[in-house]
Amino acid sequence: MSTEVITHFAQLALSAPVLQAVNEIGYESPSPIQAQAIPPLLAGRDLLGQAQTGTGKTAAFALPILSRLDIGLAQPQVLVLTPTRELAIQVAEAMQTYARHLKGFHVLPIYGGQGMDTQLRALRRGVHAVVGTPGRVQDHLRRGTLKLDRLTTLVLDEADEMLRMGFIDEVEQILQHTPAEKQVALFSATMPAAIQKVAQKYLRDPVEIKIKNKTSTVAAISQRYWEVTGLHKLDALTRILEVEEFDAMIVFVRTKTATVELAERLEARGFSCSALNGDMNQVLRERTVERLKKGSLDIVVATDVAARGLDVERISHVVNYDIPYDTEAYVHRIGRTGRAGRKGEAILFVAPREKRMLRAIETATRQPITPMQLPSHADIADRRVTQFKQTISATLAAQELDFFEKLITDYQREHDVTVDKIAAALAYLVQKERPLLPAAEKSTAPAAARADRAERQEKPRGRDEARRGHTAERSVEAGMVRYRMEVGRDHGVQPKNIVGAIANEAGMDSQNIGHIKLYDDFSTVDLPAGMPKDIFKHLTKVWVCGQQLRLSVLSGDGQQGEHKSAAAPAPRKDQPKHAKPHPKKSAKPKPKVKMKK
Ligand code: AMP
Repeated sequence: MSTEVITHFAQLALSAPVLQAVNEIGYESPSPIQAQAIPPLLAGRDLLGQAQTGTGKTAAFALPILSRLDIGLAQPQVLVLTPTRELAIQVAEAMQTYARHLKGFHVLPIYGGQGMDTQLRALRRGVHAVVGTPGRVQDHLRRGTLKLDRLTTLVLDEADEMLRMGFIDEVEQILQHTPAEKQVALFSATMPAAIQKVAQKYLRDPVEIKIKNKTSTVAAISQRYWEVTGLHKLDALTRILEVEEFDAMIVFVRTKTATVELAERLEARGFSCSALNGDMNQVLRERTVERLKKGSLDIVVATDVAARGLDVERISHVVNYDIPYDTEAYVHRIGRTGRAGRKGEAILFVAPREKRMLRAIETATRQPITPMQLPSHADIADRRVTQFKQTISATLAAQELDFFEKLITDYQREHDVTVDKIAAALAYLVQKERPLLPAAEKSTAPAAARADRAERQEKPRGRDEARRGHTAERSVEAGMVRYRMEVGRDHGVQPKNIVGAIANEAGMDSQNIGHIKLYDDFSTVDLPAGMPKDIFKHLTKVWVCGQQLRLSVLSGDGQQGEHKSAAAPAPRKDQPKHAKPHPKKSAKPKPKVKMKK
């Protein structure tokens, strides 16, 4: 194999349509696992890859597999086994994206909990690739509805997770159903003995790849992370930009497209910001870095490649908006701050499924990364007020104000108002464009808008009153149940976060989310009665603004005024999985809860 250093996808022998898709998506360069895994996979070799989620391993196997696929043969040529349905869906979606220029390509995710019919219909129509959880795949094999006689490649994704979840026997049985002549790729974050055994038994002379997590020291940099829940990353970043004291900042994202998009969105929110990516010509890139150095620009949104070697003393903050692929990239990124003996701050956004990478980074840097609370609206307001006062002081110190003083004295005499009042009116005018009391983040969800309005109209009540479960201020509508959630204003929550979390996590149409009310350290939400137990349980564990919701029933649907303990409202036996409003209350048209598949 050639020893050339791979820095561009074009250096890999991917098929033209696959390369075109990668270019359009905007990946700037192959991640380490992609650079190492794609050539042997394209050559038909077996592969044993030690890498975790977030390293770009999906593309590492999907791109070469798609490059070798026979599109004319609509039979399963590729099978990817994953431990969870979420990962199956994610991998199938990624494959579909990378195959956007392969006309007629079909990939089918199959997993338990989804109706068999849909899967059977799709299988009958013909698919090129199947991505599934071991149980359901085995089910189809047993029924003879999935045939693997034309299989050319099998991928075991997150093998250690499959082992941990007790699927390894099923995986082996599936392997025994596959043709002897095939390519096998096994990916696992760790290599316990049981996985090594599977590898020895089913992989033939595999190329072994390990994405090393080197240890490095980054002592001068204080590191924090925010777990992405409830709020969009863009809104979270906006809050940080408002409140953190920073000189200059680099925000890291994964794609060239994202550098431009995020820079534009931040500019639209009033921040001086520019993209830095490999698509920009040298002159433009140098000019951007120069502006950052001189202080005419404060925020740069960059990819790893574009920021390589960047040395600007002013950079006080690095924000990892998208988590890096490996610990080395992380260390390189945060090394852009703390230059020339200064102190640096690093902030990392971590989605729940990226927690493993967070732990790997902590191990590699031998430094704890502490969880952070996002600044609340109150923090933002404080900061804006402080800045406003500073502007007043600076103006008093530096400006010639005689003309204006006379103007105010005249006004005071003519209108008989106090100087305080006049000053207040002028202060109002000055801050009108950027109110000192910030409004909630914008949302397109109607329920969120409703909830925002409700939040603004109703002042929060005292803690104790609400803790007693006193719900006199607004009774619960028929067919609805009021729940208490253990996240409140003190945690920086807004109705919008609650709507987002419930809509996503419960698969509920946001239209059906009723009245939301915020208190200091908790809040309440009205939801259609008859929530299935599993969804209730799931919502209880969901994190919003760093707090677990720990849902409990307050009142409603026949329970008005009672403060119930954290028991799920039991769904009726005859109720379908999709919750229905309570049958007894029929005064008003009842909302339906739609669960997204
Ligand atoms: P994975 O490790 O496969 O879960 O991928 C993690 C994320 O990295 C996904 O959101 C991919 O879209 C993204 N990604 C994969 N390869 C690249 C690349 N070469 N450049 C930028 N982003 C990538």
